[in-house]
Amino acid sequence: TEVNLLTPVNVREICAALNIQPTKTLGQNFVHDGGTVRKIIAAGRVTAGEHVLEIGPGLGSLTLGLLEAGCRVTAVEIDPVLATALPSTVAGQGSADLPLRVLLKDGLQVRSDAELNEAPLINGEIVEWEAPTRLVANLPYNVAVPLVLNFLEHFPSIQEILVMVQTEVAQRLSATPGGRIYGVPSVKAAWYGHAEMAGTISRQIFWPVPNVDSSLVRITRYAAGEGPELGEPAVSKEAVFKLVDAAFAQRRKTLRAALKNWAGNATLAEELLAKAGIDSVRRGETLDINEFVALGRAATELGI
Ligand code: SAM
Repeated sequence: TEVNLLTPVNVREICAALNIQPTKTLGQNFVHDGGTVRKIIAAGRVTAGEHVLEIGPGLGSLTLGLLEAGCRVTAVEIDPVLATALPSTVAGQGSADLPLRVLLKDGLQVRSDAELNEAPLINGEIVEWEAPTRLVANLPYNVAVPLVLNFLEHFPSIQEILVMVQTEVAQRLSATPGGRIYGVPSVKAAWYGHAEMAGTISRQIFWPVPNVDSSLVRITRYAAGEGPELGEPAVSKEAVFKLVDAAFAQRRKTLRAALKNWAGNATLAEELLAKAGIDSVRRGETLDINEFVALGRAATELGI
């Protein structure tokens, strides 16, 4: 599709015209390099015609790249100035017929495809699309993990996520058990799918230049038959996630100590770990998702 990606001059001019002062609280750093946009889109493995969800379109740098690749895009932006300006920016860099719907909303509050279908196209029309199959975004850094988990939870139609986040967050999401980086986001992401690093991005391609490094991380949802074995009756995600939170709240402690208060007392904690077949002197940071699932099942069976 014929589209002009945003240049550094475009980014400066749009910000000046709209009197935009990028804010740190909303993680507003805008990409002004077409090569980087195409690198992100390639890592996102999008196909033409596919309905892609974008969170935090900002000035439209990545949005235009997705449209260039032939995607249909629903973009969710929390900042009213940016959400309002996006249709005219995109029409000016391409055309008003491009398949982009813009929703002015906090991405953390978006819970259903019905909400996406309320967003009008940039020519004002309301169209109903099938649920998005992919999420591609340059996320606001302070809420990147909750945003990723929100869409994994509420949009089962999304088979793959490719996001640009702070490098440390990308490493956390894709970490395997044992190390210092492995934590709550690693285990929770592993409940839904397989996460992997998918490239690094120079901080020089943003305006303003952030004071952290950025990386791409990809999460591919498990296919049927992959992922943790949930048993019969299936253990609930809530039961497992509560244990994950408790185990990492005191990550330097043994599980026996870390789960004592959570279970009620030391005896119950020991019983829980024994029932799950997990050595009580291990630390939470050594457990993989299957072991947390075993703990969740044991807790459910013990009525904890
Ligand atoms: N995608 C653009 C780009 O690559 O240049 C902008 C990325 S910027 C890092 C993050 C964007 O997310 C900003 O436009 C910001 O206003 C928006 N944002 C921040 N918090 C949000 C939230 N909770 N829901 C939706 N958008 C949000």
